[in-house]
Amino acid sequence: MYIVMITPEIAPAAKVGGLADVIIGLSRELMDQGHTVDVICPMYSCMRYDTIEDLHEVYEELWVPHFDDWRAEKVYTGKVAGINTFFITGSEYTERERIYGYDDDLYRFVYFNRAALEFMFKSEKRPEIIHCHDWQTGLIPAMYFDLYAPLGWDDSRVVFTIHNTECQGKCWYGDKLLAMVQMDCGAYFTPDRFRDDENASCINLMRGGIVYSNFVTTVSPTYAGEVKHPGGGRGMHHALNAYAGKLGGVLNGIDYEVWNPATDPKICHNYTADTFVDKYKNKYGLRDWLELDDVWKPIISVVTRLTAQKGLDLIKHAIYSSLEMSAQFVLLGESPDPKVNESFWAIKNEFADCRDVHLWIGYHEDLAHLIYAGSDMFLVPSLYEPCGLTQMIALRYGTVPVVRKTGGLADTVFDADYSGLGLANSNGFVFEDANPAGLDSALRRAIGCWFDAPDSFNQLAINGMKCDYSWRTPAKDYANIYNFIRAK
Ligand code: ADP
Repeated sequence: MYIVMITPEIAPAAKVGGLADVIIGLSRELMDQGHTVDVICPMYSCMRYDTIEDLHEVYEELWVPHFDDWRAEKVYTGKVAGINTFFITGSEYTERERIYGYDDDLYRFVYFNRAALEFMFKSEKRPEIIHCHDWQTGLIPAMYFDLYAPLGWDDSRVVFTIHNTECQGKCWYGDKLLAMVQMDCGAYFTPDRFRDDENASCINLMRGGIVYSNFVTTVSPTYAGEVKHPGGGRGMHHALNAYAGKLGGVLNGIDYEVWNPATDPKICHNYTADTFVDKYKNKYGLRDWLELDDVWKPIISVVTRLTAQKGLDLIKHAIYSSLEMSAQFVLLGESPDPKVNESFWAIKNEFADCRDVHLWIGYHEDLAHLIYAGSDMFLVPSLYEPCGLTQMIALRYGTVPVVRKTGGLADTVFDADYSGLGLANSNGFVFEDANPAGLDSALRRAIGCWFDAPDSFNQLAINGMKCDYSWRTPAKDYANIYNFIRAK
């Protein structure tokens, strides 16, 4: 099968969050399973060009509709992590210091949608599947079926994946937005198409993506259920209930080449489930790096973007709770909001003389690897989590996750005491209530197990290492969906 992924992010060249990793992991596994995959992404001036191999121009003058005029863009190609990727310039829309966060973000991505389809049309790319990701590609399905299929390119099918309903691509200037790409807003600004269900003056790009695509996925099965309710859907639940018949959840995977304790060059000592005792050499290495005391205590860690979704108050609470429960605590994280970073700096300063806590406020790839390898427990107290990669990475490194039961966390972590699976088949500790008491109950059980029942604790850690959260099964699930909609 020939699949084209259309995406606003690709790791590591243009990465903001987990979406960028999904593009690489899923594409590579689909290729390993015999499919052909191309990726189309905007050509941001702020990309990491050092991570793109053999970047060169392939299309000199791609004329793209822009209001009453046309603009000439260029298309470049190169390999990102071994995947054939096309980068489309976008006049001033891609010449930015950041990927997101501008007032004209909707214009930028709608223009990219038109440019991507125009490029595929003119360069005669005719994939069996066009796979779109998040609101930034929400206009692609409608554009494809209404503008390009009538021109004779009508045998592609479209999948739309929702990575997070938090951002949906909503605005009140739909007429101008669609006029930019020479589409008539009147035809689309209707309650059964692009009109937002809760704000009748707004166009909603994610909603249109759902309506027009052949199949819609979310990034975990539990999240596919949660988005059908107001809390998880954030207004999109109306449309997702209406189109529940073409909605499914496919759990993301993690890249088993990058995240492999047996070969990871970024950790102090490699290990496997059979040489689990060697994991502790990484604990010493982590303590050394972060100047923590070398004492008989477990290390609880957090690696995260510091945003509201991740349960900021619970993370802060966990720092104090861990110390009270005789554990050490390590955090690696940063926020796009300087005030949030400042609040963590205040806690860091409070513990300046304490050698049981280290908060690293920033982004550090190498330290992240050593934290996964060197800590005993990994905390993810998210208020909601469409899938979450960090708990799966922790499992791979034999670091026992302590997580809130939501989204993909609920699909991957099974409680040692309450899942009903027994010690032989569980892999972590889970709590339901997003409050300090809920968090403490799981933390207390996890830390208690580490101190009082080390054999059971190690069994949980090894069970985690033996779970398969690679892309192998998810890529097969996506291939099944692709085949299903092609056959219809
Ligand atoms: P999200 O996409 O919501 O940020 P995920 O759990 O899906 O969360 O993915 C987060 C990824 O980013 C993981 O690979 C994690 O290790 C990495 N990460 C997050 N924060 C940092 C940080 N401060 N330093 C290094 N890596 C980080």
